[in-house]
Amino acid sequence: MASRLGVRARFTLLYGMAMMVTVVMMCGGIYFFVQRALLRQVENHLRKDFSTISEYLKHDPAALSKVANHGPILLFSVQDGLQALVSSDDWIHEKLEQIVVGQHAENKPFSVRAANGKHYRVLIATAAQADRSYRIVVAHDEDSVKQTRKTLALIILLTLPIAITISLAIGYVIAGRVLAPIISITRKAEEISAENLSERLPIGENNDEFSRLATVFNQTFARIEDSFDRLRRFTADASHELRTPLAAIRSIGETAMHTPEEQLNSRETIGSILEESDRLRQLVDALLMLSRADAGEVGVQREILDLAELARDTVDFMYVLAEEKHQSIKIAILGEAIAKIDRASVRQAITNLLDNAIKYSPAESDILISIGVTTHNEAFIEIADSGIGIPELDLPHIFDRFYRVDKGRSREVGGAGLGLSIAKWAIEINGGKIEVESTSSQGSVFRVVFPEL
Ligand code: ADP
Repeated sequence: MASRLGVRARFTLLYGMAMMVTVVMMCGGIYFFVQRALLRQVENHLRKDFSTISEYLKHDPAALSKVANHGPILLFSVQDGLQALVSSDDWIHEKLEQIVVGQHAENKPFSVRAANGKHYRVLIATAAQADRSYRIVVAHDEDSVKQTRKTLALIILLTLPIAITISLAIGYVIAGRVLAPIISITRKAEEISAENLSERLPIGENNDEFSRLATVFNQTFARIEDSFDRLRRFTADASHELRTPLAAIRSIGETAMHTPEEQLNSRETIGSILEESDRLRQLVDALLMLSRADAGEVGVQREILDLAELARDTVDFMYVLAEEKHQSIKIAILGEAIAKIDRASVRQAITNLLDNAIKYSPAESDILISIGVTTHNEAFIEIADSGIGIPELDLPHIFDRFYRVDKGRSREVGGAGLGLSIAKWAIEINGGKIEVESTSSQGSVFRVVFPEL
């Protein structure tokens, strides 16, 4: 049942219960000690009376009868064996003799109830006189103690519910104040949706648990906002990129439609359409690859591979493209570069880098692939070209999706700005890192380093 209650109610209940236990224990303690103190007071009185009577017995036994009639000791009886020597008037009047007759508890005060219903505290003790001993019984009214006890109990019983009610109310207010930041955080969090992800939760002025909670939530919101933004940008950029070849195919078709049949070069038209659809296919392939990578669906199977062998394999595959531009691709093996990597993804990365080197280098230029081991025993592969290079300002962005230094020129050579982001993902998923050094109009060097085996 407790779990169905709100935190505020539960806190109030717990606080109330804790207060109740404390107050009950405190009141019990007070009650116990007060009644003990009162009884002790009566008993001290009894002992004092006893010693006064003993003194009388010792020095002035005759005076005892006067004391018995006129006080100050109101209730006493001095007995010699079974015979009562002197008994005070009140003693006789209250008929205490019959009540204490069977009692022998020496020096241990006890309570009795007289025939008239009154309560007395009684002390029996022996006073030795020369060769004789007397039994002295003194009594004292205990009703005043009982009355005080009753009043105290009444006060406690009356104030207890009041104290508990007040503590419940205080608990409720405290819980409200403590939970106020949580309530405002919850309200604000409820307002934040996909449409207003840039809003943040209020962070209290105190650096407490709640402000830390709000900070953690805000960091999460920032991350969600960032991924939403990236997703939006990715979708917008992807649609934009897809529209270009589609528009080109449509315009080629329209031009062909409006060209008189005798002037129409169908081979050229079909060739252009095929070229554009090939561009479209490449783009769709790259998009698919990235979305599968984002979803974590691309599995890697790492094996021990020789980077030189992988480079040669890739060059064999790309050679035709370089030949078209009369470029030469040279491989320099500077050391035995062995790494534990996934063949397909790393090959894809090297292909993209080599493809860029061919695309962005002039005809008849040289492309150099160097393979070796760093001073830290890490296998590396470097692809250096002497092409157009990358301006310094663009360098930090070239691995971003759809980023192109020169959109017009890049499209001419067929790029959508996805090659490097795929390469970076492929290298990083294999535990490696990719770096670039480039100078405008002089060339670029892309360096891939894999961790030591
Ligand atoms: P694209 O498909 O357009 O080549 P990439 O992601 O592979 O896309 O590259 C991003 C951009 O970085 C390219 O548009 C190009 O401007 C620049 N770039 C990449 N590699 C090179 C290179 N070797 N030389 C000069 N510029 C390059």
